[in-house]
Amino acid sequence: MSKIKLHSQHLRSNLDILAKKAGGKEKIVAVLKDNAYGHGLEVFAPKVASFGITHAITRDAKEALSIENLFQDIIVLSEHKEMFFKHPKIIFAVNEFEALKDAPSGARIALKTDTGMHRNGIKLDELEDACAIISQKNLSLHSIFTHFRSADEISGEFFWQRNNFDEVKKRYANISKRYSLPKVYYHSCNSAALLRCGKFDEDFARVGIAMYGYCDMSEAFGRFDLKPVLELFAKRVSTRELKHGDCVGYGGVYEASKDMLSSLYDVGYSDGILRYNGRGDLKTTNGSLILGRISMDSMSIESAEEEISVFHDVSAWAKYFNTISYDILVKLNAKIPREFV
Ligand SMILES: *Cc1c(COP(=O)(O)O)cnc(C)c1O
Repeated sequence: MSKIKLHSQHLRSNLDILAKKAGGKEKIVAVLKDNAYGHGLEVFAPKVASFGITHAITRDAKEALSIENLFQDIIVLSEHKEMFFKHPKIIFAVNEFEALKDAPSGARIALKTDTGMHRNGIKLDELEDACAIISQKNLSLHSIFTHFRSADEISGEFFWQRNNFDEVKKRYANISKRYSLPKVYYHSCNSAALLRCGKFDEDFARVGIAMYGYCDMSEAFGRFDLKPVLELFAKRVSTRELKHGDCVGYGGVYEASKDMLSSLYDVGYSDGILRYNGRGDLKTTNGSLILGRISMDSMSIESAEEEISVFHDVSAWAKYFNTISYDILVKLNAKIPREFV
C-alpha cells in the first residue's frame, strides 16, 4: 500500500519561520482547506494545533466541524450562503453582498472585499450598505479581508491592491462609528504576501503553501528555507529483468537502453498523482527513472528497493507538468494512509 509520511520537524520549522515573520503564532491562520492541501486534515490539524496555532481556515462547514475542538476560531472560505449557521467558533466568509441577506441573525461572519482580483467579495461602494445589514441583523463581524491576485509576482500589482485595502480599512473606521459596529480584525496576506510584504502589520496572515513547505517566488523576494512536509512512498509489487531493447508498459513507450532491473510499485494515477506519459525524464526522490507511462494503480521504476520515495519536494513534478506545487499536493487521494514521522 502506498503511504504518505509527514515530516513533523519540517512543519515545525516552517511554522517558526512564518510566525517570526508575522509577529507571533497567534497571527497565523493555518489554511487547511481541501484536506489540508492533500496532507490529510484529520492527521494534519491536530499537529498544527499542538504547535500552538489557534486559528484555521477550511473550505466548507463540514471540514470546519471536523476540527472544531482543535482551534479557537475557524474561518470557512467558500460555503454556500444557505449553509451558514450560528456557531461559537465557526466564521463564515461572506463573498457577495447578497449572502448577507440570508445569513442567520447572530452568525459569525468575515467580510470578503474585492480590492482588485475580481473573483468575489463585496465592492468598496457596497461597504456602507453591508454594514447597515450587519447592524440590523445583529451579525457578528469577526474580520474584513481580501486576497491578492499577484502576491507572488514581481510587479506593482501587490502595492495598488494593498492601497485599495487600506481604503477599505479607512472607510470601515468611519462607517463603524455611525453604525456602532465593533472593531474588527483585518487580513489580506497569503503565504507569498506575508513573506514579501516587508513589515507585517495586520492582525492575521492566512498561510497555506508555505506552511506545507513551498513558496515558488522569485529569489528577489529573499530565501526562506521552507521544507516540504509531505513525502509520498510506494511499495514494490514485483521485480523483473529487462533486456536491452525491451519496452515497458502501455504503448511500450520506454525502451531499455541496457539490461536493467525494473520493479512495479503500487502507486498510480488513481492515487491522484498526475499521469506521466513516459515522455521526457521524470525521476523519483533518489533519482531513479520512472519507466514508461504510469498506469492506474502502478508504475515501473528502475529500482529494486522494497519501498521507494516517489516524491518529497514536488517542485520537480510541478515543473514537469507545467503546473504549481499546490496542484500536485492537493490531488493526492484521501484514502492513502498519512502519518507524521
Ligand atoms: C487558499 C487561500 C489562501 C492560502 O494561500 P497560500 O498561497 O497557500 O498561502 C489564503 N487566502 C485565501 C482566500 C485562499 O483561498
